[in-house]
Amino acid sequence: LLFATTIFILFYEADETSACDVPIEHPRRNRFAPSKIEFDSSTGLEWTVRLFLALILALPAPNPTTVTLLVGGKTFNVSAAEAGALLSIPDVVTGLGGNSRPQAGASLAIEVAGHRIVAADGVATAAFDNRVVNLSHPTRSFSGTLYAPWEFFEKTIFPAAGLSAEYERSSAKIRTHAGGSAAVALEVSLVHLDQMTQVVFRGSGPVASDTSSDRDQLTVAFKSPVVAPFLDKSFDDPLVSRIHFSENSAVLSLRAPDLAVNAYTLKAPDRLVLEIVRPASPGAAAPAPAAPSAPPALRTVVIDPGHGGEETGAVGPANIVEKDVTLDIARRLAGVLSRDAAVRTVLTRNTDTLTALDERAAVANHEKAALFISIHANSSRAAGAHGSETYYLSLAASDKLSEAVAREENAPAGPAPPSPDSGPALDFILWDMAQSAHLKESAVLAEAIQNELNALLNTGNRGIKQAPFRVLVGATMPAVLVETAFISNPEEARQLTNPEFRQSVAEAIGRAVAAYLRQHPPGASENP
Ligand SMILES: [Zn+2]
Repeated sequence: LLFATTIFILFYEADETSACDVPIEHPRRNRFAPSKIEFDSSTGLEWTVRLFLALILALPAPNPTTVTLLVGGKTFNVSAAEAGALLSIPDVVTGLGGNSRPQAGASLAIEVAGHRIVAADGVATAAFDNRVVNLSHPTRSFSGTLYAPWEFFEKTIFPAAGLSAEYERSSAKIRTHAGGSAAVALEVSLVHLDQMTQVVFRGSGPVASDTSSDRDQLTVAFKSPVVAPFLDKSFDDPLVSRIHFSENSAVLSLRAPDLAVNAYTLKAPDRLVLEIVRPASPGAAAPAPAAPSAPPALRTVVIDPGHGGEETGAVGPANIVEKDVTLDIARRLAGVLSRDAAVRTVLTRNTDTLTALDERAAVANHEKAALFISIHANSSRAAGAHGSETYYLSLAASDKLSEAVAREENAPAGPAPPSPDSGPALDFILWDMAQSAHLKESAVLAEAIQNELNALLNTGNRGIKQAPFRVLVGATMPAVLVETAFISNPEEARQLTNPEFRQSVAEAIGRAVAAYLRQHPPGASENP
């Protein structure tokens, strides 16, 4: 603001062409109140006054702060803002021999020693090899350069480079030391099976740790620095209510004191497994395990008819359009599932209207759905392509064809599909954390649906696939996307126009869903 005032004083009535880039506010300038300045005419005197005031205002402006980065005997200048609280990301990355490039959405894609880091302007989270890193302060952009708090570098850039580092604010020096143990990026999944809650910490490297418990808290202290997938997350689990990360520890809040814990590690991939159970009660006087026959919980299945409105989706022979096929099959599926009194269905759209991709999973989250099923019809330039495909989410597609399918479904109306080498956008990675807790169940559901559809369409053994589908990304329950059949295949397009065929597709999916719900009774890791 004060700088703007300076510029205003100097250039009022002048052409506004100057590019200003002063990053730091200077509190000492506060006593100059702009309202005290008066101009009456454009005389020489006025210009003298203007220049004088501008000089006074501009004089105390310091040079942009520079911090020295010391790496392996070399020094690099790193520009700093806000009195050294924020450091230029590109400067540090360059010093470490990495590279950074701006990408869509005001974010910066960084590569250091083969690791990929994404930071975005004004955001207090970053992605490190597709895991989320939480920061206590957001990044900030000055003159198009992204600056981050020290914490960002400590948690991402230096671990990526395999260095440990200290930042001495008083002497404006960053010292680095080789051999800082590389941080292990963690993923956490939690399932409840047969009276036991299993928490799995999957690491990008070994996950050695010490586990200690204190009444209703279980602390896992990791022996190497870790990148936590989240800071704090609540779970709707019978034994574990919450997992909180601080420094290199995970603290599990348990729903009862003194639960028994069995911890062990597994290799390839590296995992730490915690099995948490209620201790075996020694006598007969144990409390009754469950309230006598509560009414069966009503479970919601959200069905998402793909596309709609001006977004037609794939178009097949004889003008058959995907949006109509998906809505009809979705309605039929709702009918099939509603035969079970314990199942409630919700459609993300029940008319020919367009619903945004992000909103569809949001409907499922809002409805506290047990399952989310997105219905589509496939299309391929290869006329011979046929059969069903069932997908669940991953950041990377399982093959080139899956990637192409995801690209079609993610940007069907828009002209700009994400370029294949730019990697997933940051918000995609952040949202992916919602679905990642349910990937195992999503795979099971996808498998069940695919088996039923293979039998129906007589398509041998088409496997389930993974791809980065935007519509599945925010779903906090098992979620799959079903490409029912190829609308581009003349024979299957003909079948898709047939109501009987659509009904049998709905019945097939319905059988799989019913079987899945039977095998996964309520309470087993739904809706954390
Ligand atoms: Zn589609």
